[in-house]
Amino acid sequence: MDVIEVVPNLHMLRLEFGQAYLWHEGRSATLTDTAIAGSGSAITGLLTELGIDLELIVITHGHEDHVGSAAELRAATGAPVLAHGADAPVVRGERKKAEPVLLDWERPLFERINPNVPPAPPCPVDHELGDGDVLDFAGGARVISMPGHTDGSIAVYLSKSQILFTGDTIANVGQLILGTFNVDRARTIESFHRLAGLDTAVACFGHGEPISSNAGAELRAVAQKLTTDPAG
Ligand SMILES: [Zn+2]
Repeated sequence: MDVIEVVPNLHMLRLEFGQAYLWHEGRSATLTDTAIAGSGSAITGLLTELGIDLELIVITHGHEDHVGSAAELRAATGAPVLAHGADAPVVRGERKKAEPVLLDWERPLFERINPNVPPAPPCPVDHELGDGDVLDFAGGARVISMPGHTDGSIAVYLSKSQILFTGDTIANVGQLILGTFNVDRARTIESFHRLAGLDTAVACFGHGEPISSNAGAELRAVAQKLTTDPAG
C-alpha cells in the first residue's frame, strides 16, 4: 500500500486495486472508501502505526473496488459504515449491483478490468445517507447525492477546507474525465456539473491522482466540454 499525503490531515491510500482517503484530526479518523476486498489489514496496520482510531467509514458507492474491505474494517475497528440509501442494499448484499451501460470504447476496458475485481463481502450499513446530510468530521462534511455512476453514488464535500471526494463521478487517470462504467451517463454528466459548481481547492477521485490546489477551475474547464454524445 502506498500512503500519499494530499494535504495536512488527509492521506490517499493506494491499495492493490482501488484507493481510499484517510482524514484524521487528533486521534480520530474517517475513511472514505475501502478499495477491494483484502485491503483491510494494510489499512488497520497504518492506523496502528499512526496511533489513530477509525471512527467512521463513508462509502461513495456500492462498487466492489470501493466497498470491498468495508466489512473487514467495520469488524476490525467497530467504525460504522455509511452509504447512500439507494446503494445500501447492494452494500449489504441484498441486491445485485446494476450493470453499467457501456459505451463502445468502454467495453474492452470493462471486460479487461472487471474479472480481476474480487466480489465485495456483504457489509451492514449502519446509517443510510441522503443528499444534504452533514457528517461529523472535518468541521462538517456535506453529503451530495450524485446519481448516474450508480443510483446511490455520493460526493462528500468538506466545506471548511474546500476538499471534495468525488467518488467515481469524476476520474483523473492521465487526464481529468467523466468517470467510466456508468449506469446512466447523462445523469453522471449532470452530477459532474453540480460538483464543478462547488468552491473546491482539493479534489480526490475514486481513480487517479488528487488535485491538491485550485481544483474547481480544472473541474469547470472539463465540465464545459462534456456532452451527452457517446463519443465525447
Ligand atoms: Zn464505481
